[in-house]
Amino acid sequence: MELLKKTAKEQHEALLNKEISAVELTQASIDRIEKLDKTLGAFNSLTFESALDVARKVDEKIAKNEEIPPLAGIPTALKDNMNAIGTKTTCSSKILENFVSPYDATITVKLKENLVPIMGKANLDEFAMGSSNENSAFNIVRNPYNLNKVPGGSSGGSAASVAASEVTLSLGSDTGGSIRLPASFCGITGFKPTYGRVSRYGLIAFASSLDQIGPFGRSIEDVTYLYEAIAGYDSKDSTSLKLEVGNISANLKKDIKGLKVGVIKELMSDGVNDDVKIAVENAIKTYEKLGAEIKEISLPLLKHSIGVYYIVATAEASSNLARFDGVKYGFRAQNCENLLDMYCKTRAQGFGPEVKRRIMLGTYALSSGYYDAYYKKAQQLRRLIANDFEKAFKEVDILVSPTCPTTAFDLNSKANNPLEMYLTDIATISSNLVGSPALSMPVGFDKDNMPIGLQVIGKKLDESTLLQSAYALEQELGVYNSRPNI
Ligand code: GLN
Repeated sequence: MELLKKTAKEQHEALLNKEISAVELTQASIDRIEKLDKTLGAFNSLTFESALDVARKVDEKIAKNEEIPPLAGIPTALKDNMNAIGTKTTCSSKILENFVSPYDATITVKLKENLVPIMGKANLDEFAMGSSNENSAFNIVRNPYNLNKVPGGSSGGSAASVAASEVTLSLGSDTGGSIRLPASFCGITGFKPTYGRVSRYGLIAFASSLDQIGPFGRSIEDVTYLYEAIAGYDSKDSTSLKLEVGNISANLKKDIKGLKVGVIKELMSDGVNDDVKIAVENAIKTYEKLGAEIKEISLPLLKHSIGVYYIVATAEASSNLARFDGVKYGFRAQNCENLLDMYCKTRAQGFGPEVKRRIMLGTYALSSGYYDAYYKKAQQLRRLIANDFEKAFKEVDILVSPTCPTTAFDLNSKANNPLEMYLTDIATISSNLVGSPALSMPVGFDKDNMPIGLQVIGKKLDESTLLQSAYALEQELGVYNSRPNI
């Protein structure tokens, strides 16, 4: 059990030193999931048998003194909107409740090539729409630090399972903060790479100009290794970038003297909880101590990012989700009079309230009479927000802010107030609109012992500087060694 709480790097060393076998490590993860997950709700489905098969292969390699990849044998979870052949991929939606993947997503193929045991599919907000994981059609997920609080969303299961040491690593998807927000609320690290770095082939699309897959882990080093394992060009995803990923882990430990750190003014002002502010200011002082230059940066259009996002994301979602019509996949309503009736009843019964709200908003924004007033205007504003970021990155190397103005909130406290729920993403959404890489890392705790996350945003394609700077800060703060008492 103790080993389960360690980082992937430490587990890798324990495997190589034969302190534990991969089968034992995988079994420890199985035992912990069986013990905790009824309470936590982090998983929609489990794939223990195939995980043990992979672990056995890793042990054979170790026994023969063959080299193993850094993540071989490390228990890992996939968000349940990612296809893995033969597993259910439900998106936490009734409409896909019994859908079984006929193929592997590219990230799944890569994990398999790296001999990573996939323990199961992690719970999420339905179709990744939400910030608290309360929109799952099946189960809510609870925060391992306080079971009466939300884990954040939409990748709530991916984050909670790592924070509670059910697994060591996981993958999430981030369309408007869905990796970073739950990482922040659960006290772990979550990283959204530059748009296009990781193939989305086999990820069920939410908003295609924003979606990006990324890793969760307990340390910057762990997420870097997982990122390196999944990143790179893929001809099956037309938005995938044909560029070298680079050897980021080899450069992670470079010192950061002279690094220019921009503090986003608009995200440090009113509305930020006092404890969050103190922890973020402390992280900024630590950057200074490490030799970085600190500068205040204003992003005046950032305040429009939520408005822009809820037009662009809902427009794209309304189009992406048109395919779920009772014909091709999953659920089909019974007792229908004709084809149109079947479409209507299937979608009415199959989608939950938040998904319906998004489809209606998006359809409205795209309708011919309103296209110019909403969708076109949102795209224009998106360009202007990107210009603000480009200007900022001429002056600094990274930008920092709180990941969220507050720590995790109580279950049911915002579930009936969509607008308030949408506002939790104020700090994270702009990186999706712009396409830049961004992460959330733990930098402290509030008075109630809930984790606080720092968001670090990098220049597009410069994952290396972003992760180096986060690594240096992490070493100095040491917060990642904390674990919830669950
Ligand atoms: N919370 C945002 C939403 O509800 C972001 C979701 C995401 O990144 N998948 O749309």
